[in-house]
Amino acid sequence: MAMAWAKTDWRAKPRVQMPDYPDAEALAATEARLGKYPPLVFAGEARTLKSELAAAGRGEAFLLQGGDCAESFAEFSADTIRDTFKVMLQMAMVLTFGAKVPVVKVGRMAGQFAKPRSAPTEVKDGVELPSYRGDIINELDFTPASRIPDPRKMLEAYTQAAATLNLLRAFSKGGFADVHQVHQWTLGFTQGERAAQYRDMADRIQDTLDFMTAAGLGADTNAELSTVDFYTSHEALLLEYEEALCSKDSLTGNWLAGSGHMIWIGDRTRQPDGAHVEFCRGVLNPIGLKCGPSTSEEDLKLLIERLNPENEMGRLTLIARFGAGQVGDHLPRLIRTVQEMGANVVWSCDAMHGNTIKSSSGYKTRPFDSVLREVQEFFAIHRAEGTIPGGVHFEMTGQDVTECTGGVRAVTDEDLSDRYHTACDPRLNASQSLELAFLVAEELSG
Ligand code: PEP
Ligand code: MN
Repeated sequence: MAMAWAKTDWRAKPRVQMPDYPDAEALAATEARLGKYPPLVFAGEARTLKSELAAAGRGEAFLLQGGDCAESFAEFSADTIRDTFKVMLQMAMVLTFGAKVPVVKVGRMAGQFAKPRSAPTEVKDGVELPSYRGDIINELDFTPASRIPDPRKMLEAYTQAAATLNLLRAFSKGGFADVHQVHQWTLGFTQGERAAQYRDMADRIQDTLDFMTAAGLGADTNAELSTVDFYTSHEALLLEYEEALCSKDSLTGNWLAGSGHMIWIGDRTRQPDGAHVEFCRGVLNPIGLKCGPSTSEEDLKLLIERLNPENEMGRLTLIARFGAGQVGDHLPRLIRTVQEMGANVVWSCDAMHGNTIKSSSGYKTRPFDSVLREVQEFFAIHRAEGTIPGGVHFEMTGQDVTECTGGVRAVTDEDLSDRYHTACDPRLNASQSLELAFLVAEELSG
């Protein structure tokens, strides 16, 4: 990459959705300290992920990206990480077994702390306070003190991200993700038809492994079967954090966003001349770009030129998030823009962010049917355009929450208050996630 770029250049560009820290001294001290911490990921891993995403772009693999809307300091625990990891392994197995494609597994984990908001303030019972912007910035409690942005939270976020990634690496390589454990990845509360279907599939996988071992094909010794590659991702929203963890790859001299394997630019921060695009264009990591109903063809063209000037497949994933019923109005025009440019991109479908509604009980929710419909529309349009649906992007958790309505174990509007734990947007629970994986596998193989 021969372009002129410095990791601080974003500072001269217009920025949106970032906090104004009142304590400049504390900010400077935090940045200096964080800048000395080691990166969380290694450049070689980001490059490997990029080549796996390139395969997804060519239709030779499929991207499964998922996790919390916002990771939280309060909900941080080994069990939460393990359960989300388990559900993703289950989903990946369903996709691999059902659709016969390798699945690239990317968690919205180990760094997904900063949130863009639709309004700068929130009003509750006549009191107006600055909005909550994620645990890396301020606190969810509805008090004036909690909502003051505190730069020191970046250090806590780093520590939590490091510990999360450490556990994910242990699970991925230490035996937990061994395909022989396929039966153990189920969660006690996933019941119903899909859970039974999963157990049947796991039986068949087990039989295949037993056969391979008996036939001397080494299913018991093959490292490919006993470990997985699991990557991390988050929205690169808080650029002070990103800059502090950005370092030069000694092998190539290119810059690495050390905060996670893949970073993405949100629907509210994708101004072609803005700070977020400026930062992301200079790092070697795979980049995601959210595309919503307001993404114009002109902007998309500029963004592709800026973010992927070398037209490298796997570098840029376009994450479409239009909402059920709206995909047909927007995806075809953006696909055509990409085609006319001859641009290499991975198309992924975020079926969550265009489908958020307020339920009759007052909770922010997403109907499972809308999520599914958006996925189906995404596949149908790619089929019609002759392009490749390369992946899906979900907000989901391994916990048995009641945040999205519907699914096989139908969650109703009234049920939402039972176990509504998200700090931000509503997530699919484990049953809903598994069901969706089966439906996506049908789309992929159909
Ligand atoms: C998100 O992914 O949590 C998010 C805020 O998405 P978007 O930028 O697409 O609205
Ligand atoms: Mn969200």
